[in-house]
Formats: sequence, C-alpha cells, structure tokens
Amino acid sequence: MTTDTTVAIKQRDLYAEALSRLEDARRHCNIHPEVFERLRRPKAILMVSVPVRMDDGTLQVFEGYRVRHDDSRGPSKGGIRFHPQVDLSEVKALALWMTCKCAVVGIPYGGAKGGISVDPKKLSPMELERLSRSYVQQIADFIGPDVDIPAPDVYTTPRIMAWMADEYAKITRAKSPAVITGKPIAAGGSLGRDDATGRGAYYCVKELERIRGWTPGKTKVAVQGFGNAGQHFAALLAADGYSVVAISDSVGGLHCPTGIDVKAAIAAKNGGHTVPHLARDAAVTRGSPCKTITNAELLTLDVDILAPAALENQITIDNAAQVKAKVVVELANGPTTSSADKILHQRGVVVIPDILANAGGVTVSYFEWVQNRIGMAWEVEEVHNKLRTVMAREMTAVLQRAQRIGTDTRTAAYAHALDRLGEAIEAQGTAAFFASGANGDEA
Ligand code: NAD
Repeated sequence: MTTDTTVAIKQRDLYAEALSRLEDARRHCNIHPEVFERLRRPKAILMVSVPVRMDDGTLQVFEGYRVRHDDSRGPSKGGIRFHPQVDLSEVKALALWMTCKCAVVGIPYGGAKGGISVDPKKLSPMELERLSRSYVQQIADFIGPDVDIPAPDVYTTPRIMAWMADEYAKITRAKSPAVITGKPIAAGGSLGRDDATGRGAYYCVKELERIRGWTPGKTKVAVQGFGNAGQHFAALLAADGYSVVAISDSVGGLHCPTGIDVKAAIAAKNGGHTVPHLARDAAVTRGSPCKTITNAELLTLDVDILAPAALENQITIDNAAQVKAKVVVELANGPTTSSADKILHQRGVVVIPDILANAGGVTVSYFEWVQNRIGMAWEVEEVHNKLRTVMAREMTAVLQRAQRIGTDTRTAAYAHALDRLGEAIEAQGTAAFFASGANGDEA
C-alpha cells in the first residue's frame, strides 16, 4: 500500500468515525433531515503553508489547517494542535466534536479546530514562537472574536496563545484579546482556565459519586496522558481521597497499586522527568512497590475509573473487552472507537463521553471570552461555581436522556447536542419552515 493510499484511508476513517456518532444519535432526535445535511460537512476548510526561519538560518515550511465545522449557534470555537500526526481528517473530526461539545454544554459557540503537522519537541523556543506567529499570519482572515476563536490543545500552551493574540493585534492594529482563549492571566486570560478541562471532568465524576454513593478512598483511578487535562483531573480526585494508582505519558506508564502521590508526580513530570522515570522517585511512589507499565497495559488495569487523557483511538475493538474499569472518563478527544463503544456498553461500562467530559475547557474559554468582551475579570470562585453549575446540569441531562431513550451515554450526549443544533439551524430556516408558510410576521 502506498503512503498516499494509507493517508487517504486514515483521512476518510477519522471523520467518518466522528460522523457515525451523529448518525447513531439522529435516530433518537426529532430533527429535520436538512439539519443533518448541514452538519455532515464542515462549513469551511483552510489549508496553509507555514514558513519558519529556523535557528540555523534555513527555511522550513510546515502544513497547517483551520477547519470551521459549524457556526449556527455562535462563532466557531476550537483549539490548535501542534503534533506530527495532525492531518486534515483529524482536524475535521476535532472540529465536528467541538460543534457537538459546545452544544452539549449549551454555550453559544459553533465548532472549529486548527493544527500544524510538526513535532514541537524538536523546535527551540524561538522557532516555536516564529511558527506560532507565522501560523496566525496565514489564518488571520479566517479567525476573529465574532467569527472563529482558537485556544490551546495538545502541545500548545498559554504562552503560545499570548504570542498568537499579539500577532493578531499587530496584523489588525487593534487589541482584541477575545480572539483567542487560554491566554496567560497577564495577557487577558481567565482565572480557572488552567485546570478547567480536568475540573469539568472532575465535576462529572462528582455527579456519579453522588448518584452511586461511591467512597472516594475505595475508588481506584488510572490516567493515560499526564499533561494539562490528566494532571488536573488526577490532582482534584486525589485531593478528595481517590486513589490514583496509574499515570502515563508518551514514553510509558507507572503503576503503584497503593496509590501515587499526585502532587509529587506533577512536580517531577513538569520538572522535566518522564512518567516511567518517576518509578525511582520515592516522593511519588511513597516508598511503596511500583512498576513501570506500557500505555496499553494501563488501559486494562483493574481500576474503577479509567481516564484516557492523551490522544485518539486508544480503546479499540482489540482491547475494549479487557477494560476492567466500571467508568471511562474521556478527557481526550475521541479516545474510544465506535466499535469499542459497543463492547463497553454491552459490558456495562459507563462512558462519560469526550464531548461532555472534557467540555470544561471550552466552557471556561467561553467565560474568558465574556470577561474580555465586558472588560472585567472574575474571581476564581465565580469561575468554578459557574463551571460546576454547567457541568452538573448537563451531566444530569445526559444521564437522564440515556435512561429515557435506552442508549449508552455517548449516544444520549449526541442526541442532547443535536436537539440544540437542530433548534438553531431550524430557526435560521429549513424546508419545513418555508413549507408551513410561517414567515415570522408580527402582524
Ligand atoms: P498536553 O499536551 O498538556 O498533554 C498530553 C499528554 O499526553 C502528555 O503527557 C503526553 O506525554 C501524553 N501523550 C502523548 N502521546 C501519548 C501516547 N501515545 N500515550 C500516552 N500518553 C501520550 O495535552 P492536553 O491539553 O492535556 O490534552 C490531552 C487531551 O485532552 C487531548 O486529546 C486534547 O484534545 C484533550 N483536551 C484538552 C483540553 C485542554 O483544555 N487542555 C480541552 C479539551 C480536550
């Protein structure tokens, strides 16, 4: 098989996979067929070449993307990913998930995503800055506070958002911090944005804890991917007494059956150590016997809660039957394939789906955008309270919907999102609207 063919199949599959989730949910909603027709394709796709002058004086040109999937409910919103695996199909799928995510939590945004196919670990800080600024130069006409609002994603940080906002201000000759969220506080960021994704998932778990009467001390947690989302999720649960027994990064994992000291693990990981290296750190292991494991082994550990918080397609048809967790909390986008979903559902595993579990990030991004636009900064307690209200409300709505329509929680979450998208698209006019003769006259 040629490389081109491989790429073509991968592109078709990832977006098709994302669409299949909407197809499943559609059967449980009363929406006009035109609504689905509108959502089937992204609204706009921009592919750009991103030239960067490297430190050694040579020029490298990277491939970049920005996809706007839908903006029926408001300006489109979605992160920017710097990763070697970024391709158009991935960005399209991530943009579609953003449309659904914003609808699930009821914030007034559509969905978008961007990315550059690059390994940022191979760039110097200056090269990274030039790459970030060059990307904004290429997409500046495509984004804007009322049009499309980027944010961080895998391997992009608040500092990168600040560079991008600054570059946008230089191009437009106006300060508009609301063009990008996830900025550092000093550059117009919001308190509570740093841990918002992990915290949103934590509030979902707290709802389940309330419903199921869990005892945190007896509940074991494994987290795949110990970056922004995974670290904060683990830290919040550990602070409540949950036993975080396994973590991992791109190099590998660590398993401590009696629990990891999450605070020490975060300090060591962010201090430059890999997760497998932490097996030798007594502050992390608390002196108890721990062993290094692979990412694949982490997924099938005997735990209560499994949180994939790294990349897509981790729980697949090959390992879904071996997942022992009772609850899967999808901090990552698209970590479970649709065939794996069916196996998990049949086995009674409850999945808090990505479009709900990791929606805390975009929800607090929305709060940041609101604060930028009204020129005020909220206290962190206000941000947390508002986030808790949103997450608890929508988690309850999704669980109730799943019970009512007799489906898994993912299908229920998509149905919940489709209801809101359907209302917005129908309000703009579908064939049913025109056929009924309704014309909106007040007289
Ligand atoms: P991050 O860059 O901060 O961390 C990613 C982590 O995953 C790192 O520890 C990295 O080493 C690890 N990783 C990379 N490849 C891996 C692999 N193959 N196996 C195991 N671990 C691997 O990224 P993040 O912001 O925490 O994002 C993680 C996931 O959460 C992504 O899917 C992202 O789309 C999703 N997400 C993040 C946010 C956010 O606000 N940060 C919001 C919504 C969704």
